[in-house]
Amino acid sequence: MGNVRELMARLGPSTVKFDTGRGGMPDLTNQDIAAALGMVPAGLGRELLEACWWPDGAALRRHRLRDAVIALVTPELRRQQRKLADARTDLGLAEVCMGWAGVVTAEQRAERDRAAHRLVQVKAQCWPISTLESLPTLAAAVIGEIAKCPHCQGCEGRGETMSGELLKICKVCRGSGLGAVSDRRRAVAIGRDEAAYRRTWKPVFEWLLTRMVEAEQEAAWHMRSALGQAA
Ligand SMILES: [Zn+2]
Repeated sequence: MGNVRELMARLGPSTVKFDTGRGGMPDLTNQDIAAALGMVPAGLGRELLEACWWPDGAALRRHRLRDAVIALVTPELRRQQRKLADARTDLGLAEVCMGWAGVVTAEQRAERDRAAHRLVQVKAQCWPISTLESLPTLAAAVIGEIAKCPHCQGCEGRGETMSGELLKICKVCRGSGLGAVSDRRRAVAIGRDEAAYRRTWKPVFEWLLTRMVEAEQEAAWHMRSALGQAA
């Protein structure tokens, strides 16, 4: 993936230094690179590839990145809201049943306790209420992490390691090529303190990061393939 990222950076005006062929890459013109980028399927991955590695180009159509992030998050938010509404309804029904005939049975009480417990569990699994408002900040922090994250030391950012004669997915980074980033650094990136990050924001941040890394890598693969670089 490293080559694709360098090529993307080469499209930026400030990185002309990449214009000399590197690492056995054939000499490609910026038009070749732009054409290969055009072969990457539209969607989150391509937007991320551009936002991470070609900031000047992506800046021109930020709304497409925004739309792609919203499209990624919306089904999960709706799923959580439905689950929460169901759990609330179940608890309400259990409570109604308890008082229905005057006498409360042990079974009814147990049913109510189960429903109450379930609601607590579901609430704990839901993202914070303010996730939507915080989405621009979260997305920017995730993109910044993908773009600036140090390489994984296990595979030097390649995502793969040699095992004998076989290429294997790197176990340290699980193929992402990205080095570990601390909770403290992520908290700073989204403007929260570390305790608040761990308590409230960590699950949604990691959810976004996992999916955005996957999407960006898939797009990078398409681009590499379009450039005739596929293994
Ligand atoms: Zn690795």
